[in-house]
Amino acid sequence: MKNKHLQPESLMMSYGYKPELSQGAVKTPIFRTSTFVFNTAEEGKAFFEVAYGLREKGEHEEMGLIYSRLNNPDLEILENRLTLWDKAEDCAVFESGMAAISTVLLECLSPGDLLLYSSPVYGGTDFFIKNILTKYGINVVGFRAGQTKKEIVEILKASGLSDKLALIHIETPANPTNALIDINMCREIADEFSGGDKKVLVAVDNTYMGPLWSHPLEHGADFVLYSATKYIGGHSDIIAGACLGSKQLMKRIKGLRTFLGNMTSPWTGWLLMRSLETLKPRMETQARNAAKVAEFLQHHTQVEKVYYLGFIPKEDKLNYTIYKKQYNSPGAMLAFDIKGGEKEAFKFLNQLKLIKLAVSLGSTESLAQHPATMTHIDVSDEDKKANFISEKLIRISIGVENHEDIIWDIEQALASIN
Ligand SMILES: *Cc1c(COP(=O)(O)O)cnc(C)c1O
Repeated sequence: MKNKHLQPESLMMSYGYKPELSQGAVKTPIFRTSTFVFNTAEEGKAFFEVAYGLREKGEHEEMGLIYSRLNNPDLEILENRLTLWDKAEDCAVFESGMAAISTVLLECLSPGDLLLYSSPVYGGTDFFIKNILTKYGINVVGFRAGQTKKEIVEILKASGLSDKLALIHIETPANPTNALIDINMCREIADEFSGGDKKVLVAVDNTYMGPLWSHPLEHGADFVLYSATKYIGGHSDIIAGACLGSKQLMKRIKGLRTFLGNMTSPWTGWLLMRSLETLKPRMETQARNAAKVAEFLQHHTQVEKVYYLGFIPKEDKLNYTIYKKQYNSPGAMLAFDIKGGEKEAFKFLNQLKLIKLAVSLGSTESLAQHPATMTHIDVSDEDKKANFISEKLIRISIGVENHEDIIWDIEQALASIN
């Protein structure tokens, strides 16, 4: 029989690891070592030549292990496994989502270049773009989910720097209200402003829906970015990040990572491999629970509006089309407007007994927070208004608990308001 094409969830326990190289251990050991012994000086020289790009790797040559800032078995096996979900050629893991995002932005942008980004993005990304990139002479301009291609092109032209466009960075669905952006539209804009030997690149932060429910590379993205702290790690016990893309682009990203030294540690890498084994069952349970919670919220008299991808009406053609094209699940993140304002929202949050009052998302436990005064406190009033980040908005990341218990908790907290 021909070898079957195995699904990622079947390969998460074994892919990229050879037990015979590690005393037959079923599980990848933690390679807690900073440096690796070369068999000969000639071998050391050959490894360094390839690592520093002085020559291409030979056809049958395996890249040797040198030093854990450059390469380490735990990180390499983890990276190989992560490529399976997004069907990417290569992957680089970082010590945080912010490390992955900032490394891509720094590698792809030079002084004088223009970055186009969707706004609002994750608070840390927003801060990095507005306060750090601009410090190095990089120009930045934002657009909002819901704007048409024509409107975005106009924003670019109005900036007077459209010929300097080098990178488009987007986050979809956008935090905290699940607003959607068409990745393919961004690809088209990137291509329109490419020319000569300049290729405008597209990076997508897929933390909210990946790596299970959306695969941005299939829709024209050059980079997929993750805070692996969220669904990939999934247990609220590590901070990590990842970036995926073509071999050619990842070579550049890994190059900068080597010199910034912001790769993840072997211990964190090992924990992420452990997390990947249960990624699919965790995320599927979370999505099932979220559907039940969203349904409950929608019919509650204390709730004004629910922001959940499963509720996009067919009549909302723009968003419905993007949703059907880019996602294979409504995910496990939802938000809702509580009747009232900050007072009612805080009362609700303070009354929760099972759901934890904390930022972050994608973990086994359900988490609730108040974006306007927590994750998005720094967003301008204008952007808050345009993105429905009001005082009555509460965001919940649904975990793997029993759905009836989650609903019970929300119900009793809502009942406490009156
Ligand atoms: C959490 C998060 C980040 C930042 O990741 P860290 O691991 O905290 O550095 C970036 N983007 C999104 C969408 C996030 O939710």
